[in-house]
Amino acid sequence: MKVLKFGGTSVGSVKSILSLKKIVENEARSEDIIVVVSALGGITDKLITTAQLALRHDGKWKEEFNTMVDRHHKMIDTIITDTKKRVILFNKVDALFEQLKSIYFGVYLIHDLSEKTENAIVSYGEQLSSVIVATLIRGAKWYESRDFIKTERKNNKNTLDSELTNKLVRDTFSDLPHISLVPGFISRDRDTDETTNLGRGGSDYTAAILAAALNANALEIWTDVDGFMTADPRVIKSAYTINELSYIEAMELCNFGAKVIYPPTIYPVCVKNIPIKVRNTFNPNYPGTTIKNKIDDDNKLIKGISSINGTALITVTGLSMVGVIGVNRRIFTALADEGISVFMVSQASSENSTSIGVKEEDADEAVKVLNKEFSAEIEDGAMFPMHAKKGLATVAIVGDNMKHAAGISGKLFGTLGRSGISVIACAQGASETNISFVVKSEYLRKSLNVLHDSFFLSEYKVLNLFICGIGTVGSKLIEQICKQYNELKERNQLKLNVVGIASSKNAIFNRDGLNLSNYRETLKSSEPSSPEKLRDHIVEMNIFNSVFVDCTASKEIASLYQNFLEHNISVIAANKLAASGEYDKYAQLKKTALRRGVKFRFETNVGAGLPIIGTINDLRNSGDKILKIEAVLSGTLNFIFNEISATVPFSETVRRAKEQGYSEPDPRIDLSGTDVVRKLVILAREAGYRVEQADVEKHLFVPQKYFEGSVEEFWKRLPDLDTDFENKRKALEKEDKRWRFVATLDGNHTSVELKAIDLNHPFYNLEGSNNIVLLTTERYKEYPMLIQGYGAGASVTAAGVFANIMSIANI
Ligand code: ADP
Ligand code: ASP
Ligand code: MG
Repeated sequence: MKVLKFGGTSVGSVKSILSLKKIVENEARSEDIIVVVSALGGITDKLITTAQLALRHDGKWKEEFNTMVDRHHKMIDTIITDTKKRVILFNKVDALFEQLKSIYFGVYLIHDLSEKTENAIVSYGEQLSSVIVATLIRGAKWYESRDFIKTERKNNKNTLDSELTNKLVRDTFSDLPHISLVPGFISRDRDTDETTNLGRGGSDYTAAILAAALNANALEIWTDVDGFMTADPRVIKSAYTINELSYIEAMELCNFGAKVIYPPTIYPVCVKNIPIKVRNTFNPNYPGTTIKNKIDDDNKLIKGISSINGTALITVTGLSMVGVIGVNRRIFTALADEGISVFMVSQASSENSTSIGVKEEDADEAVKVLNKEFSAEIEDGAMFPMHAKKGLATVAIVGDNMKHAAGISGKLFGTLGRSGISVIACAQGASETNISFVVKSEYLRKSLNVLHDSFFLSEYKVLNLFICGIGTVGSKLIEQICKQYNELKERNQLKLNVVGIASSKNAIFNRDGLNLSNYRETLKSSEPSSPEKLRDHIVEMNIFNSVFVDCTASKEIASLYQNFLEHNISVIAANKLAASGEYDKYAQLKKTALRRGVKFRFETNVGAGLPIIGTINDLRNSGDKILKIEAVLSGTLNFIFNEISATVPFSETVRRAKEQGYSEPDPRIDLSGTDVVRKLVILAREAGYRVEQADVEKHLFVPQKYFEGSVEEFWKRLPDLDTDFENKRKALEKEDKRWRFVATLDGNHTSVELKAIDLNHPFYNLEGSNNIVLLTTERYKEYPMLIQGYGAGASVTAAGVFANIMSIANI
């Protein structure tokens, strides 16, 4: 004999209920079965909210009531094809609805909704669903579960009277029909005969009670997911089904909020060693999860993660608690007497404080109870008055095998720490099957994500990207991410999830990943944004493994980095302003990244996609010392000095550089050497020297007065320089030399200068807008290291940013 329980989702729709019918008929081929059903999905909630409306004297209760009637009627109309049966069923169902309506009307008139009345109301969900399913399944015998599931009143709560229930169940089913149909959840008080229930989700419990009392071969919980999963699949998209769990593991997970099984369900069947199977009504061929006593070949350390939101911590503390016997007994007795359940306790070995985890809604009452219990001690100063810390969540990682393994706590707390999640309290029982900890509610989702990623996956590593700036570099980057997405997923097991995109005006977000095919349109129609709004939104989203990618040239955006790093968000900047700005701020950013275990990378600040900064870092990490850097770092200036000729005057080359996208939007930033100075400062700093932009010796080739005034005036005046340049160029040509704007770091000294480079120098043949860097180090002294290639352009810069992203992903 087997007990099959079908949850609300399995009787919620025509599709699911027909699937239920098939499953039951199939299972009944091999043995006798008892089917336990919940109310139609969502009906219990609706029964309650409708009662609240009636209580508030809101006439809308009738509409809500009618939608419930409609839903049941429609269901019957569709699934019961036999006219005679349908008429009988309609009569039964309508009789139940008549009663229910009268009760609601009573609540509406009297403005009173006692626990007793509410219990009567919610019982209709299962009463209705069970008669429908009993009619649907041929040969099924319907039972009134309130006749044998009995509760008693204990500590102000309705609690199962196991002894009486077991006896009545055995009597009722002494002559077991082939298929029995039992409404779940509902029960009756053994003394008053009032309708009660086993608590929300209690149909599972009804099924377990029957299975245990009748020594069933198995208890099957049929629901809407493929089994017991590593985490709540609604929160963790990558959660997957666990094949086997021990009773203890299942109990720990359920007690900590894994909603898939109602917690009291496991105990009765565990005592009888009856296996529980969790299976999917919508995927009946899938074997699901088996919960049993002992698991063979179990090599998994952690089985699952679960959590309860809306928890509170109460700390019982005082100076003279140390060594006092009986404090804990008094705490727990006082709370138990009021029916307040404690799900976590953490006590330091100094014994002068005990933290107790309770549900948030019980917190005020618990504080009251404890303050009363310890009023004498509080009065004489031995203990402090209690207070509750609310807005918390409790998370548990569970696995029987943790007890044989070292380092699980280390991994757990290390992972949380790296993600910037601070743990408020923690507890690990001596059985070592469960480690629980408390965090602020706002960190719940992130905690679950990082832990799931670190303990269970990962089939895929996920990196969540916020891309700011959709100019040439930003849009190329998004294009490259789109193109590479599948390849990276397959080859590198990496999912690059773009969770936010911001232009200078708007921003869009989606924690599950934005659709990149139409982001521009979505951006246009989104709410206006600002750097502050952007910062607040990103920090508030609090997503694990997240990276802020700055493809702007904005000072305001660069000023957000410090805040991001402090919130454990890595920063990748194509924007040079932060790394070349004030030294102390740059150093602070690097220090924060290091302390927070995240990255601040800006490879494309110099030489676009060329691996210059990375190389300098690699050399230094291996013990080398950078002695000298000579470099042509401006693609724009190199383009200009390669273009200049007898027929193309200087002013024309500047214009071409602008038109062809080589220069900054304002070319004066290139011509004044500002851009090169910034790059040199960054290189010098990365090479280990403390340099500010003002320290760089500048030898400019465009007189200062050309940089004053507006851009328009600048363009107007620029041709004035052409004759002088042409004269100098001719002289240079005669000597077989070329102009290069060279940045130099020599020891501590930094300078930028337009130099005449002769034929034999490696800089002489530098084509187009290319960059070149010569690194003289202790190891590369006689023959310096040379890095050369495209130093500008949206595609290569975006590719450099991409490489930075990958360098974070590969850690
Ligand atoms: P039913 O109506 O069948 O009783 P419930 O809604 O009570 O269904 O429980 C099933 C739901 O539990 C799933 O749809 C899933 O969203 C949720 N759930 C939470 N944690 C887990 C978990 N660890 N494994 C599987 N499901 C879980
Ligand atoms: N229908 C009840 C509820 O929603 C019992 C159950 O579904 O198990 O809580
Ligand atoms: Mg349930």
